Amino acid sequence: MAGDLTAAAKEQGLKYFLISYADLFGTQRAKLVPAAAIGDMAKSGAGFAGFATWLDMSPADADLFAMPDPASLIQLPWKPEVGWLASDLWMNGKLVEQAPRNVLKRVIGEAARQNYALKTGVECEFFLISRDGTAISDAGDSQDKPCYDQSALMRRYDVITEICDAMLQLGWGPYQNDHEDANGQFEMNWTYADALVTADRHAFFKYMVKAIAEKHGLRATFMPKPFPNLTGNGCHAHVSLWSEGKNGFEDAAGELGVSSLGYQFIGGLMHSAQALAALTNPTVNSYKRLNAPRTLSGATWAPNSVTYTGNNRTHMIRIPDAGRFELRLADGAANPYLLQAGLLAAGLDGIANKRDPGRRLDVDMYVEGHKVQNAKQLPLNLLDALRALEASAILKERLGVEFVASYLKLKHAEWHDYARHLTEWERRTTLDC
Ligand SMILES: [Mg+2]
Repeated sequence: MAGDLTAAAKEQGLKYFLISYADLFGTQRAKLVPAAAIGDMAKSGAGFAGFATWLDMSPADADLFAMPDPASLIQLPWKPEVGWLASDLWMNGKLVEQAPRNVLKRVIGEAARQNYALKTGVECEFFLISRDGTAISDAGDSQDKPCYDQSALMRRYDVITEICDAMLQLGWGPYQNDHEDANGQFEMNWTYADALVTADRHAFFKYMVKAIAEKHGLRATFMPKPFPNLTGNGCHAHVSLWSEGKNGFEDAAGELGVSSLGYQFIGGLMHSAQALAALTNPTVNSYKRLNAPRTLSGATWAPNSVTYTGNNRTHMIRIPDAGRFELRLADGAANPYLLQAGLLAAGLDGIANKRDPGRRLDVDMYVEGHKVQNAKQLPLNLLDALRALEASAILKERLGVEFVASYLKLKHAEWHDYARHLTEWERRTTLDC
């Protein structure tokens, strides 16, 4: 393993490695290691003080070691002398239970024991904004319906194509780039892959987009709802489950070309959706994208209830095509590893318990949603989602009780920090009480 990275450094001309990991909040932490030292680091890991990052650790804890995964190596296209590596976290000779990549690998391992492999693609929307973060970066991008705006897209040609060229070079199979539904918002799509590969690429994509935007004097944000009147940043996931090289969700005789296995997986996601939201929509701001009033463009593109449908973008789950479905719940703040882990855990529960998602709803939820009876509602805020996760025996068991306890502890603290803030809205509505 050590030899692989030393050899890779020689072959690819790498002078440095970024040994990186995503903490529970999805923040990427790293050590920059010279190629001369990578052999030792690959054997024993890069050392960190774990408590200094969002991992629910204390200063009294032992050193945290990030063991780089050589299979995840990505040469930075915009700085080719640096190689990025995703890592698994260890402490006291044991895998750290609550580390997000470890959580995902555990759930993938459970799926593998049942002969299943999750394949996913993610659609990571982002805004290009001013460096100070206060406004979108292109004053000319002001249409009320800016989706697919050719001129606004081409004014950002240099940034978008630098990112797309990078993905081409990395072999990710990018196939389209567009201006999305909000002013200043873009989406770039690359080919789906095994869940761990997609999670590593998702993590790297966020870093790459931010780094390349900075090079061009801009700032990129994946914040779920950075501007109140504009569509937020979603992170839709396209999902299929494979066995022996075959897509288990495909069935020409099934409703919409989806097998009963696929519907059980959907049933699992619907059963655990409210708890899953604590992972897929992990910030206070996330709930300003879900449950949002109509935006300038006319639609929020985000769900507010736990429903599924065919090719219709107003529900939490859409079946656009035979053999797969799209989960439209997650947003740009979702931790790439916990998103995959959570949806796989909920889906496996659906299979294990043959959960029935019920009949699909072929209605426009934005127009007729109020008429739909008995549909569960998604949480209205982060606290509701955290309480749903706390009550979910399914996610605790499948994701690990240590992980869920650590996650809830840190996220409750974040909620309390938010709740202590006095907002302008409160002053406006309560000053004259
Ligand atoms: Mg989109």
